[in-house]
Amino acid sequence: NKFVYSFTEGNKSMKSMLGGKGANLAEMKKIGLPVPAGFTVTTEACNKYYEDGEEIETHIVDEILEHVAKIEEETNKVLGSNENPLLVSVRSGAAISMPGMMDTILNLGLNDETVKVLWEKTNNKEFAYDCYKRFIQMFSDVVLGIEKYNFDSINNNEDDIEVIIEQYKKIVKKETKKEFPQDPKEQLMMAIRAVFDSWNNQRAIIYRKINNIPDEIGTAVNVQAMVFGNMGETSGTGVAFTRNPSTGEKVLFGEFLTNAQGEDVVAGIRTPKDISELRDVMPELYEEFVGITKLLEDHYRDMQDIEFTFEDKKLYLLQTRTGKRTAKAAIKIATDLVEEKVINKEEALLRIEIDKLDQLLHPTFKEDFLKDATKMAKGIGASPGAASGRVYFTAEDVVREAEKGERIMLVRQETSPEDIEGMIKAEGVLTVHGGMTSHAAVVARGMGKCCVVGCGELSINEKAKTLTANDIEIKEGDYISIDGASGVVYKGLVETEATKLTDDFETIMNWADEIKRLGIRANADNERDAKVAIELGAKGIGLCRTEHMFFDEERINTVRHMIIAEGIEERKEALDKLLPFQRKDFVEIFNVMKELPVTVRLLDPPLHEFLPHGEEDIKNLSQILGYDYEMLKERVESLKEFNPMLGHRGCRLAITYPEIYVMQVRAIMQAAIEVSKSNEFTVNPEIMVPLVGDVTELKIIKDLIINEIEKVFEEEDVRIDYKVGTMIEVPRAALTSDEIAEEADFFSYGTNDLTQTTLAFSRDDSGKFINEYRNKNIFEKDPFEVLDTKGVGKLIEISSDLARKTKKNIKLGVCGEHGGNPQSIEFINKLDIDYVSCSPYRIPKARLASAVAVI
Ligand code: ADP
Ligand code: MG
Ligand code: MG
Repeated sequence: NKFVYSFTEGNKSMKSMLGGKGANLAEMKKIGLPVPAGFTVTTEACNKYYEDGEEIETHIVDEILEHVAKIEEETNKVLGSNENPLLVSVRSGAAISMPGMMDTILNLGLNDETVKVLWEKTNNKEFAYDCYKRFIQMFSDVVLGIEKYNFDSINNNEDDIEVIIEQYKKIVKKETKKEFPQDPKEQLMMAIRAVFDSWNNQRAIIYRKINNIPDEIGTAVNVQAMVFGNMGETSGTGVAFTRNPSTGEKVLFGEFLTNAQGEDVVAGIRTPKDISELRDVMPELYEEFVGITKLLEDHYRDMQDIEFTFEDKKLYLLQTRTGKRTAKAAIKIATDLVEEKVINKEEALLRIEIDKLDQLLHPTFKEDFLKDATKMAKGIGASPGAASGRVYFTAEDVVREAEKGERIMLVRQETSPEDIEGMIKAEGVLTVHGGMTSHAAVVARGMGKCCVVGCGELSINEKAKTLTANDIEIKEGDYISIDGASGVVYKGLVETEATKLTDDFETIMNWADEIKRLGIRANADNERDAKVAIELGAKGIGLCRTEHMFFDEERINTVRHMIIAEGIEERKEALDKLLPFQRKDFVEIFNVMKELPVTVRLLDPPLHEFLPHGEEDIKNLSQILGYDYEMLKERVESLKEFNPMLGHRGCRLAITYPEIYVMQVRAIMQAAIEVSKSNEFTVNPEIMVPLVGDVTELKIIKDLIINEIEKVFEEEDVRIDYKVGTMIEVPRAALTSDEIAEEADFFSYGTNDLTQTTLAFSRDDSGKFINEYRNKNIFEKDPFEVLDTKGVGKLIEISSDLARKTKKNIKLGVCGEHGGNPQSIEFINKLDIDYVSCSPYRIPKARLASAVAVI
């Protein structure tokens, strides 16, 4: 079994073995690009390392040393040589890129002797010792586990760099009780182990969790001959994207620093220069680099993120990968690549991360608020969006304050991987230093978090905990607002509004519609949601909940009256008052939806939520309704249930109090007729009965419904088409769907309740234990978020098969949170289901996910 591959042996298809970085280094070598010599220790070796109790087996060690000899041959340098020492980098690289999450060590091979040789050979003492210093720093941090602050006391301005080195080594001795290791082979093996270990550092674990990357795939390790960007002003290092990763625009987008090494550009300590400035100082090098970026994009047929270094005007490629991008950029790049005939429509759809579509619906600042807002400073817009929050200066502070439910802005000189939790919890991220490719920028874009970097006008006073710029001072805890597109920082809180969608977005959505099989509807209870749903491409309403309409201040007391009414006459009195309100609601919704189907669910009230709570409330209500206080109190008491979720709700309410549904049906039909009469189109409502468990329940209620509809038809002297169906949200209904289908024109799977009733997990209480269930791998995901396909999914499958046996053309849909969840949609797409319905803002995701499910 082979555990080590030279760069000349691999290619881009070997990612799972060589990691993304290793596979692409090999690929670049293969197509003839200038890549420094090196090899990759495979992810299998990493897994073996863990299997063997964190030891590298001897024959793997031998294999590594054989490959070191190959680099020595290729470079004419020897590790540890006193004549021509080889220096290498040791770089992590998993199959799925995790930028900055694991560790890299540069300049390995230096020791007290080789540093002198390097000095002699280059005739550049500053350079040689700069390399050694960086090496000791990185090695101490990554391999020896000496925390960075230990070195804070060292005065880096000391004239004699050798003295600085001595101080570094002293601290190493003090912290580890050993000398800094001098044997390059020992350094190498220690470094490789440390990279394996970094797979399980805290930030890598968190990153994998939020990005759904499996823990067991392991990282590869790349060992590569060093090239030096820190050799003076004709040397340098940089990062470039073949297209703008924030907007998607087709322009080379990059940054570089001269006399710099490795992480300098991304670390954001010095703000880098724009790549176009390279043309001014080194035109030939620039042209060569531009040529290579084009070649790489053509070769990979996607936007690339490229790391390069030039040593005394000679160019080297150190990494290429598919560039991370915002949703906006993803959509622009995908549509552009189709237009350029590089990819087809299906590929374009697959290139867009479904979960990131939410970003596009991110709010922007309201224009009229912006006019009055105070501009404080301007930095680089690194990840678009608009965010406001209270200023805090450390990740820990952000996490603590955010947990109190506050909106927080993380403000830092620059971020480092240790800040990741703070970045997750913050509304937005603002840094003083750093460019478009700095850590803050890359990570924020990956998360879809609003971010402004390189805002040099700002100064942070860590002691006083203040942020100042242009005579404005912001204290810790005060609000600021940032615009992640323009880079502008505003004082205070600026109001936001929804964004306008681009033509490219429409194009992608239309391609998705051409390809997908499932219909997409929205869950919408009012005119406003219905409008959003239409705008985002819903082809109907799959669930219009009527109980939400009752919470309105004007109506709530009438609803309470209806609930506590003693006897049918009194209840009818209350219902008569509610009828015009309900009718108005439906008129508004039907006017928006026009001829598109609207499924209205009859009342399924959590009765207890409507009742007055506490003495004060009851007193108030008794006065309003003219009830005796004691009597009302008793009545409220008697209506309380031990287990309301399994109580007197759904259609059970109509079995005991049919007049409630009768009123609702009347309101629906009157509204439908009214809207149809005054328009070109006809409204054909779909009336849905909730929580049915037995066909007879549905039969009784359906008769009631039809009876009332006939009355309305007679009164209005018109007839319109309508459907009566049921929600399937009780296991018994799923299992007897052949019978229930006899009485139903359609089914809608209410997967929220169906999950609750199937698992016997309370929707309102499962939060308390669900995390432990996930940790113990009982459920991989919260079943209220991702459909439990084995259980709940199985019931839907059984039910839909039974239903179709009875009624081939019965319409079947899924409403509930799962209708907007890509993973659940993939499953639903395989069943004989006609449509999914989800909350309006999830419609774009649902459209794309149902297309991807087909591809
Ligand atoms: P990451 O995965 O965090 O980007 P890398 O392994 O790519 O880490 O390395 C960090 C930095 O060091 C990059 O800027 C890279 O270009 C630079 N680097 C890595 N290997 C070498 C090398 N052999 N010579 C010069 N620079 C290198
Ligand atoms: Mg890199
Ligand atoms: Mg329900």
